[in-house]
Amino acid sequence: MKDHAPNSWEARAEAHSLYGFTDLPSIRERGTVVVTHGEGPYIVDTNGKRYLDANSGLWNMVAGFDHKGLAEAAKAQYDRFPGYHAFFGRMSDQTVALSERLIEVSPFERGKVFYTNSGSEANDTMVKMLWFLAGAEEQPQRRKILTRWNGYHGVTAVSASMTGKPYNSVFGLPLPGFIHLTCPHYWRYGEAGESEAEFTARLARELEEVIAREGAETIAGFFAEPVMGAGGVIPPSAGYFQAVQPILKKHGIPLIADEVICGFGRTGNTWGCETYEFVPDAIISSKALTAGYFPMGAVILGPEMTDRLQAAIDPIEEFPHGFTASGHPVGCAVALKAIDVVLEEGLLEMVRAGAGRMEAGLRRIAEHPNIGELRGVGYMWALEAVRDRDGKVPFDGSLSVSERIANTCTDHGLICRPLGQSVVLCPPFTITDGQMDEMFDKLDAALKQVFDEVA
Ligand code: PLP
Repeated sequence: MKDHAPNSWEARAEAHSLYGFTDLPSIRERGTVVVTHGEGPYIVDTNGKRYLDANSGLWNMVAGFDHKGLAEAAKAQYDRFPGYHAFFGRMSDQTVALSERLIEVSPFERGKVFYTNSGSEANDTMVKMLWFLAGAEEQPQRRKILTRWNGYHGVTAVSASMTGKPYNSVFGLPLPGFIHLTCPHYWRYGEAGESEAEFTARLARELEEVIAREGAETIAGFFAEPVMGAGGVIPPSAGYFQAVQPILKKHGIPLIADEVICGFGRTGNTWGCETYEFVPDAIISSKALTAGYFPMGAVILGPEMTDRLQAAIDPIEEFPHGFTASGHPVGCAVALKAIDVVLEEGLLEMVRAGAGRMEAGLRRIAEHPNIGELRGVGYMWALEAVRDRDGKVPFDGSLSVSERIANTCTDHGLICRPLGQSVVLCPPFTITDGQMDEMFDKLDAALKQVFDEVA
């Protein structure tokens, strides 16, 4: 048990703040970290200790923690018009401009945008849109939502139901009608002797079977992250989207790309769906949309969804949905700047230029016999720890191997995230070669230390 000086930041944090997604025994033993500010990709705590945040906060701080242009865009907009909504036919000029820009950079030749405060709410909103369409198109039974095990879509009651993680059972979730398909992770779920192409074909057959079992006319939509993020950075098996999309199309089931992590550069292209060569029916965006400088999510509808939604709205004359801060003018001004920073001012190029270096460095580290798999793309990677590489045998869960690795990294001033038995690295796009080397060195040292302790 770590004792904090009375009235220290750490003691105050523990006394009055509830932590989400935090291993509390570990916090009790190690203490909390209270952060005061950031410098480039580093965060600094109340004791002045610097940490290289190789997780970009929560994947979102893609321009680092002290980007002047983003802070100035927010300040200028606060001076001009500090807050408004998008109800009753009124919205800010920044909201109008951002929607235009989002459609321009989307894979759609036309479409419409709806704003939320988070990725969870954007997924929730999309599900409500699908349910609204089902009712309006006289198919009220079309309400089931298909996602995949290990997919992460958020924490509201609906988006948590979409999330394919066992921890949601403590809330009595998922809600009925949320169906989870096999995670497209070939290394982990491929069967003995099964090729990657056969694995993908099996998952496509499973989709056909689930649609046949449930009835296509009961299914409202299929949501997928192009690369699963919080599931442990899982790129799809080869040809996955090319295999599932025609099946969904045949049955009239929209494919929604949850681009909350992948969108705006993380995979080395503007969109993850671009990297995996498919065009979805709608996109869910958040995180890098504002480079993490403002809470915002967006549902970006492609042409067909836009037309269908409009036709559904017309008879009742409104879409009865929206958040007080939907399309917040400061958020929109920040997002307009963030899109420029990523797409026009070189950040996407930095990911493209650095991805090979990142992969090569991690590949060297992955030579350790207790690393079973290195996987990823662009600036999102995971190293999966195993007790036995050939048998892909995980470590005993009680050893908490990935937590130990992440804690050891934190002790050495590097933040990476334990997810299952993997450790995730997804640094800000602005990371320099020197900072990347620091990440490799600290990670390598931590892995060696922990594997020496547990192997
Ligand atoms: N969708 C994906 C793919 C995510 O990774 C996340 C968050 O990590 C969400 C949705 C939920 O976003 P938020 O935490 O902003 O509600």
